[in-house]
Amino acid sequence: MWISIISLFPEMFKTVIKYGIINKSIKKKLLKISFWNPRDFTKNKNRKVDSKIYGGGGGVILKAEPLIKSIFKVKLEMKDNVKVIYLSPQGKKINISYIKKLLLYDKIILLCGRYKGIDERVINNYIDEEVSIGDYILSGGELPAMILIDILIRHIPGVLNTISSNNTDSFFNNGLLGSPNYTRPRVLKELGKKNVPSILLSGNHKKIKEWRLQQSLGITWLKRPDLFKKKKLTEKEKILFNKFKNSYFKNK
Ligand code: SAM
Repeated sequence: MWISIISLFPEMFKTVIKYGIINKSIKKKLLKISFWNPRDFTKNKNRKVDSKIYGGGGGVILKAEPLIKSIFKVKLEMKDNVKVIYLSPQGKKINISYIKKLLLYDKIILLCGRYKGIDERVINNYIDEEVSIGDYILSGGELPAMILIDILIRHIPGVLNTISSNNTDSFFNNGLLGSPNYTRPRVLKELGKKNVPSILLSGNHKKIKEWRLQQSLGITWLKRPDLFKKKKLTEKEKILFNKFKNSYFKNK
């Protein structure tokens, strides 16, 4: 996948691309990231890219020309089948089904706004999609862009060590939350009976798989009733869930 970022502050991405799976994917050549600064597409001496909003009201926005020129230049470089995304609080909220659709593209341009946003003409004429990370306002599109890249990269074949490490994560786990995980030491003295569930130490993989499914069902029911409502349970899942529910009410 090739992602081009149009941003006034490309330096913000330096740390993110230096660590973890983003860094590994770049090294493995599964991901290429390029940066473009709209300031490089200005003609004025101060490389100014913002201007006051027409109609008053205070604040500035990013001007259309440097953004349009940036988009044109990047498109020329990336050639065809490019998706141009503007990170915006007014966009579609990112969710798993959106990510799956976006993965059909292997070339993406991410435009990061700043200040009070960008000239509306850019949105209406040069952007394919506006995408939001949630109903709140950040100071710029850079952090949302980093989040989107991190989500996308986890789904590119070859990026994660084992494909199962993604399939058992929350939401990808058949629309359920992931099951609880534990590691050494087996016992934390101060926790008494609330230590690692013995089934996980039994070596019985069939039973462990069943326990994990039961926990995922129960935890989704407790923590995300909205997700649980959407889930159509199989007969086996119904039995496992009822067991979870009974033991939950018994121990309450
Ligand atoms: N005036 C704009 C509005 O009311 O929609 C908000 C501008 S915001 C302060 C500046 C920039 O941050 C935006 O242009 C956008 O790129 C980015 N941004 C802010 N909140 C965001 C969110 N929830 N999701 C994605 N991008 C966001």
